[in-house]
Amino acid sequence: MDCKEAQKCIRSFFADELDIGEAKRFVDHVCSCKDCMEELTIEYLLSEGMSRLENADDIDVERELEERLNRVLSRKRMHSQLKTGLFLVVLILICIFLLGGVKIV
Ligand SMILES: [Zn+2]
Repeated sequence: MDCKEAQKCIRSFFADELDIGEAKRFVDHVCSCKDCMEELTIEYLLSEGMSRLENADDIDVERELEERLNRVLSRKRMHSQLKTGLFLVVLILICIFLLGGVKIV
């Protein structure tokens, strides 16, 4: 993902509209690109700050952004664990099937 793409994804990221692959590429890029992280921070301040302007001092942008990024990453991890689990189940089924097949012969 390049900067242009990443910056287009920022709004979708906050709206939780990115699919898991996009979200991962987005987080990867933003974490390694200072410009996009800055853009993300500004966008976050704009969207969150406006609605909480009266207590804007309470906003810990860095921490909140980090939490959001981590949430995406952990969701992604869960997703891949789920996929690994499913793979194992299929593998076991194939083994049972093959072993069963062997037994019949
Ligand atoms: Zn970038």
